[in-house]
Amino acid sequence: MKPIRNCAVAILLFLVTSSAAFAQTAITLHVDATDAARNVLHSRLTVPVKPGPLTLFYPKWIPGEHTPTGTIDDVVGLKLSAGGKTIPWRRDDVEMFSFHCDIPPGTTTLDITFDDVSQPETTASAKLARIKWNRLLVYPEGVASDAINVKASLKLPPGWKFASALPITTDNRGELQFKEVSLTQLVDSPAIIGAHFRSLPLSTTGMKHELDLMADTTQALELKSETLTGLRNLVQQAYALFGARHYNSYTFLVTLSDHGGSEGLEHHESSEDGVGEKAFSEELELLDFAELMGHEYTHSWNGKYRRPAGLATPDFEQPMHGDLLWVYEGLTQYLGKVLPTRSGLWTAEVFREAMAAVAAEMEHQSGREWRPLVDTAVAVQLTYSSPRAWLNYRRRVDYYDEGSLIWLDADVLIRTRSNGKLSLDDFCRRFHGGQNTAPVVKPYTFDDVVNTLNEVMPYDWRSFLNARVNAINPHAPVGGITNGGWRVVYTDKPNTEIRIADHGRKSVDVSYSLGLLLKEDGTVLDVNPNLPAFKAGVAPGMKILTVNGRTWSTDVLHEAIASSKNSTAPIELVVENGSFNETYRVNYHDGERYPHLERDNTKPDVLSDVIKSRAQQ
Ligand SMILES: [Zn+2]
Repeated sequence: MKPIRNCAVAILLFLVTSSAAFAQTAITLHVDATDAARNVLHSRLTVPVKPGPLTLFYPKWIPGEHTPTGTIDDVVGLKLSAGGKTIPWRRDDVEMFSFHCDIPPGTTTLDITFDDVSQPETTASAKLARIKWNRLLVYPEGVASDAINVKASLKLPPGWKFASALPITTDNRGELQFKEVSLTQLVDSPAIIGAHFRSLPLSTTGMKHELDLMADTTQALELKSETLTGLRNLVQQAYALFGARHYNSYTFLVTLSDHGGSEGLEHHESSEDGVGEKAFSEELELLDFAELMGHEYTHSWNGKYRRPAGLATPDFEQPMHGDLLWVYEGLTQYLGKVLPTRSGLWTAEVFREAMAAVAAEMEHQSGREWRPLVDTAVAVQLTYSSPRAWLNYRRRVDYYDEGSLIWLDADVLIRTRSNGKLSLDDFCRRFHGGQNTAPVVKPYTFDDVVNTLNEVMPYDWRSFLNARVNAINPHAPVGGITNGGWRVVYTDKPNTEIRIADHGRKSVDVSYSLGLLLKEDGTVLDVNPNLPAFKAGVAPGMKILTVNGRTWSTDVLHEAIASSKNSTAPIELVVENGSFNETYRVNYHDGERYPHLERDNTKPDVLSDVIKSRAQQ
C-alpha cells in the first residue's frame, strides 16, 4: 500500500514485556458477519487471563498502512465480562487504543464483545465485504503478535461465499472455523465475503495461485480471456524476476463494487484489491486494475518479505518509521508498472504514458523546492492523508512515484554500464529472491540497499541515492527516461495515465497548461503556484462559473485552453469564492499540454529492454 532509518533497528531490540494478566494460550475470536451489508460486524473474544491488572490494546499501526490508522472510533458496544459478571474498563487517558481493567481472583478467561461499525462505502457494500481481522479484536498490550495465537471463526450472511489465504478447518454451511494461527498471521490473512463469487486458478502446476472475486453483480465477474492470460503471465513474470517465492500459496482477493470502497493492501500470501464494479469491462479501469495487481503482488517480496527495519515492528503498538518508503513503495510502484507490461496486461505505449505522467507530475511539484523526497516518507503519518488543497506546494506521497523514477534511473544505469548484461532484475534476485520460503520477514537498512546494489554493479550508489532521496532537488530524477533513449514532450493529445486518474477521481487535470486540477463541476482542487492560473488569482476551494463568458463545462474549459494558442487575449474566468464572485484573467497562450515520451534516436532504446518479458521459469 500506500510507508527506516538506521536507528530504527533499535525497535527490533525493544524489550517486549508480557502483560501480567495474560495467560499464553490461544485467544478465540468469533465474528458474526450476518449484518455486513449494514456495515456492522459483531465480534466475540475469549482471552485466557490471570487475576490482576490487564491492559487490552486495539490494533493501531496496521502493517502496509505505515500509519496509525487503526479504526478505534468504529469500536462500539464494548463489554468485558467473566463468568457472566461485568468487568468495568477504563480507556487510557492518553493512548486512545488502550483499555485498562482488573481481572478478579479465580478468573481464567475474559469474555469481550463489541461491534465494528465501519463507515459506509469503505469496507462493505450491500452484496460484499472485506473482513479485516485487526478491526475485530483486542489483545493484551505489550505482547508481541508472534507470541499470541488466535483461533478464529466466521459466520457468513445466508448464501454468501468466502475467500481468504487463512486455512479453514471446517465449513459448516456458512459457519467457518479457521486453523489456529499467530496474531501476526491472522491480521495478515483477511477475507472477502459476498453474494457473487468466482474463483479462477492462476497456475496449473506447482504452487497454488488463485484469483478470487466478489462482486456486486454476477456480470461484473466476467473477465476477458486475455486479462486472465495476462494475470497468469504476471505470476510467471514475477517468479522469473525474483527467482524465488516467500509464500505457501497466493490469493488475489478482488472485490468489484462502486460502493464497497477502493482498496489496495498487501499481505504475504494475499492482497486486498478493491476496484470498481466495471473494472474488467471499462478500458481505463482495466488498465488501473492491472497496475494494482502488479503493485500489490510485488509487495509479497518487496514490503512483506524484505521490509525496512523501521516498519518491521513486533506488534501493532510500536510506531513505524517511514524513511525507507521510497524502497518499500517506490520500487513496488516501479515493478508494479514493469511487471504488468512484461505480462501483456499493459502495452509498451501504456507503460511509456504512465512514466511520462509520473515524470511530468514530479517535475511540476512546486513543493520540491523546499521539501526533499525523504521527508514525504518520514512524514507519512501526514502525507498519506494530506488534504488535496495545496498538495502541489506541500508535496504528497511522492516517495511512490518519484521513487519509481529513481529505480528506473538505477535500472537504466546498470543496463547501460554493463552493456545490457545486468539490470535491476539482478538486484531484485539478490535482495528479494534466494531460497523459496514460507512467509518470513527479513528486515533491511539503507546500507543493505547500497551494499546489494554494489554487489550487482560497483558504483557510488550511496551518493546516487543520497542525491535523489535526501537532498532538495529542483528537478525530478528523469535520468532513466533520458538515458533510456526517450524524452518527455508535451502535446495537445491527452495522456492515458492522466485519463485513468481523471476517470477515477472525476477530475479535470490541466496541470501542465493553466496549472489547475479541478472537479468536473469546476471546483478547484489544487493549483501550481508557479503557473498562470494561480498567478491570476485562482486558489483551491474556488469554483469556476464561466470561461471566456460561457457557463462552465469541461468542454468549454478545454476549448478555451486549446484556442489560447491563437489569441493574445487572456482566458477570462469568473470564479466563486465563498459568497463573492471575482473575475480573473489568466495570461496563457500555449494550448493544451499533456506529457508523453518521444523517442530520442541518438541513444539506444534501453527503456524498451526494461519491459521485455523474461523467459519463464
Ligand atoms: Zn504499495
